[in-house]
Amino acid sequence: MPLRRLLKGFSDFRLGYYREHLDLFEKLANEGQAPKILIVACSDARVDPGILTQTQPGDIFTVRNVAAMVPPAQYPPDTRHHGTSAAIEFAVRGLGVEHIVVLGHALCGGIGALVDGRDSIYADYDYLSTWTSIAQETRDLVVRELKGRSREEVARAVEQAAVLNSVGNLMSFRWIADKVAAGTLIVHGWWFNMTEGRLYAFNPATALFEPVLGVNLEGAIRQGTALSSIRPERFVAALAGKVPAF
Ligand SMILES: [Zn+2]
Repeated sequence: MPLRRLLKGFSDFRLGYYREHLDLFEKLANEGQAPKILIVACSDARVDPGILTQTQPGDIFTVRNVAAMVPPAQYPPDTRHHGTSAAIEFAVRGLGVEHIVVLGHALCGGIGALVDGRDSIYADYDYLSTWTSIAQETRDLVVRELKGRSREEVARAVEQAAVLNSVGNLMSFRWIADKVAAGTLIVHGWWFNMTEGRLYAFNPATALFEPVLGVNLEGAIRQGTALSSIRPERFVAALAGKVPAF
């Protein structure tokens, strides 16, 4: 029974990891959390950000939703339930994180449903397509520009372009744009390929997602600063083999 496995897992955690990190948990309990990084990741069970980055409790503030999407800011704020925006707001305004990572991934079911549109087996779900329509224009752009390419190639392009769309939407929140302009907050677009176990980061210089080899933090930070002004159009144009217009 799957639930029994969870309880066994918690028991192992309590006797193992928790005991081994008692000082850390005591510090976190007494002083509260102070993560420097917000990760926006997919709900997909295969892409746990804490496991992928081997972080400890207190290191990363995490929002997970279908397809790792950030919706555009709503001004003036309304009374709907903006769960992702609320988590981002708390991380940025409340915790003062210094980095935001949007982490897309290969074989994303949410992106697959967006790519397939009305042909998707999930097309008549109550909430799914409304949520993933955050990247509808990006999806349409990719489908149009990569006409004739395989479905796999188009889906991968939408997975990556949707990361950039979410980065652009992050910048629509005033308190994010202000901090990025002041240099106190850096945004990053990453994509994890589980079939090869490799992490990719968007490189504004080439307008493509490129493998992150080893640890080149300074380079990643420089790219992250430049990334804030990048729109999916440039990435899609690079993929389509066209000369970027900007
Ligand atoms: Zn996913």
